[in-house]
Amino acid sequence: MSVSIIEKIIPADNPNRPGGNYQKSYITIHETGNRDAGADAAAHANYLYNGANGETGYHYTVDDHEIYHHIPDNEKAWHAGDGGNGTGNLHSIGVELCVNAGGDFEQTKKNAAWLAAKLMRDNGIPLSNVVQHNHWSGKNCPQTIRESGTWDAFLAMCQAEYDGGQPAPAPSGDAYTVQAGDCLSAIGQKLGMDWRDIAAINGITEPYTIYAGQVLMLSGGQPEPAPQPVTGYKVGDHVVFSTCYRSSTAPIEEHLTASQMLRSHGVITRIAEGTRNPYLLDNGLCWVNSGDIRGLYPG
Ligand SMILES: [Zn+2]
Repeated sequence: MSVSIIEKIIPADNPNRPGGNYQKSYITIHETGNRDAGADAAAHANYLYNGANGETGYHYTVDDHEIYHHIPDNEKAWHAGDGGNGTGNLHSIGVELCVNAGGDFEQTKKNAAWLAAKLMRDNGIPLSNVVQHNHWSGKNCPQTIRESGTWDAFLAMCQAEYDGGQPAPAPSGDAYTVQAGDCLSAIGQKLGMDWRDIAAINGITEPYTIYAGQVLMLSGGQPEPAPQPVTGYKVGDHVVFSTCYRSSTAPIEEHLTASQMLRSHGVITRIAEGTRNPYLLDNGLCWVNSGDIRGLYPG
């Protein structure tokens, strides 16, 4: 999936473009809070460009059909509410989601997840540093996502986009898309089915590992194929990783960031087949998948 990004960079002398050059280590998700019809990304782009909202600014606005870019990613912007030296204002990229009447908010979230994955890749930002505006200032933002309890699902969409996968299809009558935090027994209870039947239909055996974004079939038919082993790297490659896992089958939500590890690089010492995170680094440092690898270690 790909969404067009329209560059409409705010003039450099606007008060809502304070400038500077900062490394970005977070992505902050907001909602505009403007439910008027027509309050889409283009409207917000004009508003920001004209300096109509004083000093407040941020980097991107996303709606259900396009994305506007207002401030270069490396510059600071007053959007996080954590002060003039705040990590949110200085070191996070602000992304606003439109909530305009008549807009398709589900599509807006998908577009925002695509953008977040792009920004994660471009800046080496782990999923654990994709945060709500609420994280910095306590404000109830992004309000709709917070109040509908869909933040974890949104993060799973970001990770799916980051991994290069297509967003999981919506649940239909005979399929269910695993949400972050789900386990088979909870899904069975939710759907009124015996979880052992769901496991059998989908060829899932002990230890019954499932992962967010996986599509489970609920009646006979073709089971979801297992994740394909990734073959882009080989044993002996010295790679740099952004996130990693304790096991080859650990689900997305159990990822560890590189900063939690002894180091952020290692040599591939084994490749497991048919697992989610096929590459073992340094005989046990951690497991990674191709989406976690940022490239070969320099030198
Ligand atoms: Zn906000």
